[in-house]
Amino acid sequence: MTAYLDNAATTPMRSEAVEAMLPFLTERFGNPSGSHAVAREARKALDEAREVVAECLGARPGEIVFTGGGTEADNLAITGHHAARPGPVVCTAVEHHAVLHACRALPEARLAPVGPDGVVDISALTDLLDPSVSVVSVMLANNEVGTVQPLADVARAVRASAPDAVLHTDAVQAFAWLDIAATAADADLVAVSAHKFGGPKGVGALVVREGVAIEPIIHGGGQERDRRSGTYNVAGIVGMAAAMQSTVAERAATVARVQALRDRLADGLLGAIPDATETGDRANKVAGNCHLSFAGVESEALLVLLDGAGVCASAGSACTSGAVEPSHVLTAMGVPADRAVGSLRLSLGTTTTEADVDLALEVIPPAVDRLRSS
Ligand code: PLP
Repeated sequence: MTAYLDNAATTPMRSEAVEAMLPFLTERFGNPSGSHAVAREARKALDEAREVVAECLGARPGEIVFTGGGTEADNLAITGHHAARPGPVVCTAVEHHAVLHACRALPEARLAPVGPDGVVDISALTDLLDPSVSVVSVMLANNEVGTVQPLADVARAVRASAPDAVLHTDAVQAFAWLDIAATAADADLVAVSAHKFGGPKGVGALVVREGVAIEPIIHGGGQERDRRSGTYNVAGIVGMAAAMQSTVAERAATVARVQALRDRLADGLLGAIPDATETGDRANKVAGNCHLSFAGVESEALLVLLDGAGVCASAGSACTSGAVEPSHVLTAMGVPADRAVGSLRLSLGTTTTEADVDLALEVIPPAVDRLRSS
């Protein structure tokens, strides 16, 4: 048996998404930009998907820009708005690299600190704001530790101290768990990625609220009203819309079920393993995140043992695996380096079962014990 506990890295595809996509990978292969019957069929599917995506994100269809994933959506938001209105960009120190590196590639990036709970320090953020600021980027939920940021408070600070700045939120890890229409209502730009909620990889969306200026970062045929060129990934977009619809319909039930599983897993491990600590405040995390650290253990070695015993987990952000240094997120939260290198992210999802939790609880404590005594 394998317990897949790495849903923050990617999720298995929902059957609704696969079924919705199949015709567009086979007989309905048209390019929506054409003007004949085959093209029109694809255009109709694209338009319908756009309506679903807009509704699920609390936006209007014209505010949706389809992208090749979350990384591209984040880059388009930050680099694209900066090109339209240059100025310093501000983001938190715990952003995903898609945001952090996009900001650092611009002439002036300012980093807002977080507290030990991973929540952005609003007064320190306010100190970084002034009327010249172009973009403020604060993620909705963190990919490593699951912390949810107080976006309404951030928006208030931005409106007061940098009234011309746009607020971007990376909602890539949030969509599976939070009502984005409500929680990201204050953001001008919102990025999501289909493969984090049962959709295909390589497709995402950026909400660009009406009146928010962005310059394209990909030039070409002028698709997406000149905001993102490139032939449409029709199957991917249709799959994302189907995955979104099912996720929204089942979200409340999923959150309740997964949160109970996560709590049993976290409490079980904390009870069974001496000198184990939980990262961040569980009450302020997405339901699927369980992040622990163990003194005297190196997470890479732990992951190998867990993999051998059928538990798929992660040491931090999958995008930076291979790095032996403590993650920038844990460092920003003030987790001491010796603790941070012994951290384990178990991320649950819609397909996680009681049996997965049982296996993790059976396998992880002896694995930690073995590494400590070796
Ligand atoms: N932002 C966050 C918070 C993420 O967790 C990820 C993926 O891990 C991304 C952005 C990048 O999304 P994608 O994998 O679709 O490029």
